[in-house]
Amino acid sequence: MTLDIQRIRLEFPILNRKINGYPIAYFDNAASAQRPLAVINAESDFYKYHYSAVHRGIHSLSVQATEKIEKVRHQVACFLNASASEEIIFVKGTTEGINLVANSWGRNQINSGDNIIISEMEHHANIVPWQMVAQSTGAQIRILPCNEKGELVQGMLHKLIDKHSRLLAITHISNVLGTINPVKELVAYAKSHGLVTLIDGAQAIMHHAVDVQDINCDFYVFSGHKIYGPTGIGVLYGRKILLDAMPPWQGGGSMISQVTLPMGTTWNNVPFCFEAGTPNSAGIIGLGAALTWFKQLSFNLIYDREAMLTNYALNKLALVPELVIYGPLEKRSSIVSFNLGKYHAFDIGSFLDQYGIAIRTGHHCAMPLMQYYGVPAMCRASFAFYNTKEEIDRLAFSLKRIYHLLSG
Ligand code: PLP
Repeated sequence: MTLDIQRIRLEFPILNRKINGYPIAYFDNAASAQRPLAVINAESDFYKYHYSAVHRGIHSLSVQATEKIEKVRHQVACFLNASASEEIIFVKGTTEGINLVANSWGRNQINSGDNIIISEMEHHANIVPWQMVAQSTGAQIRILPCNEKGELVQGMLHKLIDKHSRLLAITHISNVLGTINPVKELVAYAKSHGLVTLIDGAQAIMHHAVDVQDINCDFYVFSGHKIYGPTGIGVLYGRKILLDAMPPWQGGGSMISQVTLPMGTTWNNVPFCFEAGTPNSAGIIGLGAALTWFKQLSFNLIYDREAMLTNYALNKLALVPELVIYGPLEKRSSIVSFNLGKYHAFDIGSFLDQYGIAIRTGHHCAMPLMQYYGVPAMCRASFAFYNTKEEIDRLAFSLKRIYHLLSG
């Protein structure tokens, strides 16, 4: 069996657009993937025929809409192999999921003198919430470093962990280097020392089958828009025993059991106590459609195609003069970050845009990694399985052209 890429591309109307007179070559998938019609239509159908406020209504539309979103909660639980639907909390995205854990679990379980371990290759979403917890509790942040090759120095973990370590929060795949971290081993080691573990799955969820019970982490977070779903919706998986002991972090409708004045309000059960206010129900429906659509493609075929595209790109880009590629040679995802000579990433990105090629430029919300490599910014081409070798040829060809233009 193979993926029929030409047919799949037809399901993404945006991939047929022209930008600046050229067919778009969309290589910004790690920032946000594009959506197939199955997702766009599911959201539109929900609004056209099924929409109503959920969880609170007694009328049929509300009951049916509630059933639909709760079905997606079950679907997500199966997708992640969580042991129960209650372990799935709908959030805005990875960022909000991590902030939920930091504010609810972190601020209540972490004390002055404790320490939190994160890595040098984290996205700001998995740095700043922990710095805020550290600031308010008097805890310390400890950093698992990475090496020149762009891998975590796993062996350093035993030096960082002591009896005051409370949490290991680490990315599954680096959004800059594409490094696939050995999360199962890291979690096993951290847990053997009593740490709680959180995995940022923002860059992994669309490339690998994720089994939270196999990884054995306590929390796993991802965003819908990275897995061909809508923006503004994401998932926090939490181990039930931990969620049950966590206080809510936002107050409002839906998250309560009983409200009394002046005090004495009690909370709804997990997961609802973590979902204050009217949820993004259309986003949840779109996420469900994205997972259904995604699951009918095989993870193995997706993995093989993305690995093929990445290797193809690495070989082609290696032929561009003065182009430096960051990240490991092996165990890497379909993310290729690079710089071209002394030229700023913004210039390269702007030139490529003139040829209809969309890449990411900047610090990629990973300033500590930029500091490690001593650069202000990088260019990043990130591939989805719907990309083609011809598009990569255009990228390499255009980069050579830009190099010759700039170097005069
Ligand atoms: N973590 C990683 C590794 C990411 O790549 C991103 C987004 O690029 C995030 C967290 C934040 O995701 P979101 O902006 O969807 O909350």
